[in-house]
Amino acid sequence: MNQPAEKSQHLSLLHDQGQISLLTTLPPSEVLPTLGSGVDGITQVEATRRLLEYGHNTVDDHGKPPVWMRFIGECTHFFALILWVAAGLAILGDRLSPDKGMLHLAIAIVVVVLLNAFFSFLQAYRAERALDALRGMLPPKAKVIRDSRLTELPVEVVVPGDILILEEGDKVPADARILESLELQVSLATLTGESLPVVRNADSSIARNPLEATNIVLAGTEIISGSARVLVYATGMMTEFGRIAHLTQAIPERKSALQSEIRHISIMVGILALSMGCAVFLMGQFINVPFWENLIFTIGIIVALVPEGLLPTLTLSLALASQRMARRKALVRHLPAVEALGATTVICTDKTGTLTENRMSVGAMYVDGVTLTRGQIPSSEKTGLTWISRIASECHSVRNVLRDGESTRIGDGMEIALLEFALEQGHEKVAGERVWQQGFDGDRKRMSVACRAGSSTTLLCKGALQGVLPVCTSMFEDGQTHPLDSARLKRINDAEAAIAAKGLRVIAFAFREVKPGHTPSEQELIFTGLIGLEDPVRPEVPEAIQKCQIAGIKVIMLTGDHPMTALTVARQIGLVRGDPVHLVLGSEIVTMSASQLGIILDQPNVVVARVTADQKRRVVQALQRKRHRVALTGDGVNDAPALKSADIGIAMGITGTDVAKEAADIILMDDNFATIVAAIEEGRAVYANIRKFLTYILASNVPELITCLTFMIFRVPLPLTGLQVLAIDLGTDMFPAIALGAEPAERGLMSHPPRSLDERLLDRGTLLRAYVWLGLMESVIAMLLYFIALDESGWHFGVELDRFDPVYLKATTSCFAAICMVQLVNAFNCRHTTLSIFDRRAPPNADLLIGLSLGVAFVLLLIYLPIGNRLFNTTPLESTVWVVLLPLALIFIALEEARKRWVRRSMLRGPNGKLSNSTNL
Ligand code: ADP
Ligand code: MG
Repeated sequence: MNQPAEKSQHLSLLHDQGQISLLTTLPPSEVLPTLGSGVDGITQVEATRRLLEYGHNTVDDHGKPPVWMRFIGECTHFFALILWVAAGLAILGDRLSPDKGMLHLAIAIVVVVLLNAFFSFLQAYRAERALDALRGMLPPKAKVIRDSRLTELPVEVVVPGDILILEEGDKVPADARILESLELQVSLATLTGESLPVVRNADSSIARNPLEATNIVLAGTEIISGSARVLVYATGMMTEFGRIAHLTQAIPERKSALQSEIRHISIMVGILALSMGCAVFLMGQFINVPFWENLIFTIGIIVALVPEGLLPTLTLSLALASQRMARRKALVRHLPAVEALGATTVICTDKTGTLTENRMSVGAMYVDGVTLTRGQIPSSEKTGLTWISRIASECHSVRNVLRDGESTRIGDGMEIALLEFALEQGHEKVAGERVWQQGFDGDRKRMSVACRAGSSTTLLCKGALQGVLPVCTSMFEDGQTHPLDSARLKRINDAEAAIAAKGLRVIAFAFREVKPGHTPSEQELIFTGLIGLEDPVRPEVPEAIQKCQIAGIKVIMLTGDHPMTALTVARQIGLVRGDPVHLVLGSEIVTMSASQLGIILDQPNVVVARVTADQKRRVVQALQRKRHRVALTGDGVNDAPALKSADIGIAMGITGTDVAKEAADIILMDDNFATIVAAIEEGRAVYANIRKFLTYILASNVPELITCLTFMIFRVPLPLTGLQVLAIDLGTDMFPAIALGAEPAERGLMSHPPRSLDERLLDRGTLLRAYVWLGLMESVIAMLLYFIALDESGWHFGVELDRFDPVYLKATTSCFAAICMVQLVNAFNCRHTTLSIFDRRAPPNADLLIGLSLGVAFVLLLIYLPIGNRLFNTTPLESTVWVVLLPLALIFIALEEARKRWVRRSMLRGPNGKLSNSTNL
């Protein structure tokens, strides 16, 4: 058993930086033994051993800032900075006039900042972990040859010595030497930033830099076209990518609309707090308030106006929503995309696989000059059908792999269907060797391979007729080759139109012999026939389309398919109804100006057919210029730019390539269009929820402010201490706020149009409702209880009270209790801007009841426990206080109910009778 040791020696040699010449200069057959591998790969047993020795093929996230840095970040965001200032002021005040309890306040503020930072950090951290876990639900797979069989395995278990198959759209899982390749092109963008693909092949190379060696593919790079068989020499942290991950910082993520809006809100509210604080401090100095008193007051204002609980609640609600979406089979890759999805106004969707099931079967055929339907298809003859079968069984990228122990075909659904059709026809694969290939891409709309059997080489081609016919010069009919004259061309095109009109996807077939010594090229091919493939519409799609129409979301089908096929499917799913129909062809898109395109796309009944990936991007941009928020689906390598330029890029989880998934914001685990609609609904719910808790959290800042102002203006003892303010903002308020952030989607959410691009989260309506209406009512109740308590103890205006005077304690506790309790019932008010709290359309939220119970328990602890009394300057209250508070809280609810009723009525009566924008005031 000293063989493994010997192997490891080779391996460690190869791992030395710069020592790749052994790999790159030797021919493939000699490279294999240096890594203890053979043409059939290594055995499973050996692989297991190597996995132990070299570890899993994963790269640690060194790009991310370390944990302590991120914690510091949470301590230094805008709200936190303001609070630090407040704490500084409190310390200053304590220096100037000790014994006023200012040190206490300073400490409390610092504790709050730290606690808050800790919670925010914890939330963000957990959200991130949850996202990671969600991503893990779609584990990237590698095609590995083990024990001489092609097996699909998670990329983590790939080890040095493994032989991999790489194909178009794959992300390279490890550093590897190419053994064999066909037209391979690789994008190094992830490593070098260079976006133009480079050619790679198996030939020896003398370059010493792995990035330049033409026979090396590196982990993290992407296969743009072609395919290869490669030998892994480095995995995990030993790869170039792993090394770079050590050095580079994570690329900063593009700020989403939500992030910038939240930033905007924090700055606005922060500036409001600071300027209020300063203005009032100056005023205090002006009217000769004692300095320390003035300082307490200023700090109070600042602390009162900063919504400390906002950021952690926000992260939490987004994270919860991303989990709900995952349950509905939509995986979110960036948290803010959750909310952005809710604002979608247009969905541009693929047809195949998204609207249809991608379960294809042959439904019609055109061969030897006649169109045949399913029942009439002859079983193998010496006619053109033989050629079609041969092409179907050779010209594809389908592979048989061992997946979870079972042998399955993986690849394009259509190619699998064609392959199975060929087998049904009794066409066994001719033992030919593929010597050349040009993979399918949406621009050329065809795919070709060249196969050598004995001394003859044949080029086999299939694709859309539009892609194949231009490279054909003759036609195979009744066993003979005829020139492609105009009569034949017309017959072919008519046949295609007839098949497409049935909603079938049309594939054309062609071939030619390649003369010895010539390189194959897609020229002067012999056209042999057409096949029409049936692909049933997904049963849930028509309903989803209808849902979009009700929700004011436009759906545009963007397909590479024949316009008639597209139109028929569009009619089947209800995307197109009646006339007129606007069929836009990809070729027309190029000739149109952006505004012309925008105008056409705005029409009803639009279907875009025969598009290429670049034309998809133009469509997205034209829509964006018309101020649409565009969600776009894609699966191929070419779709990546379009996916990136869309507001929400959606990749297919099953048929999508790694490249497309990497470029997308959201991945559909089931490739299903209906899932997009479900996710949009969740996105809308999140937006509504954010607004709910924003209103809620802001409302309680008003009584906190008013109590402070009363103290200042009327020279009464301070009704609410700084610590009590913090106890509300980060204690009692938090539980219901979090519950509001997790509210289920209300019914009717998908019956109004998407919010407009100009709509702000914190608009005037929300601001007025929170600050002026709800906040002011809460203030009145709080002050009422404060003065009732003072009055009962026989306090007279102008009498100063000590911080520990029982009379003062009772009054301030009453005020505190009032704000807490009123704010707790306010959670019901904030569940909707216009719907009554008794309205059935808002489903019950059990979390809210839990949140409220926790909130109540917390208030009672602060008021009735000695430790609560000591820390927060409270005293146990008599039951009479609660008896007074209860009816006031009910009046509070009743008044808000009256306002909602009034708004509902005036919306009905509104100038244009629109009842739509129910999320607005
Ligand atoms: P879709 O929007 O329906 O996914 P595609 O761009 O994938 O459209 O395909 C456009 C056309 O290209 C199809 O109608 C078909 O004729 C042809 N085509 C699709 N896939 C392949 C393939 N793997 N090989 C050859 N031709 C293909
Ligand atoms: Mg497709």
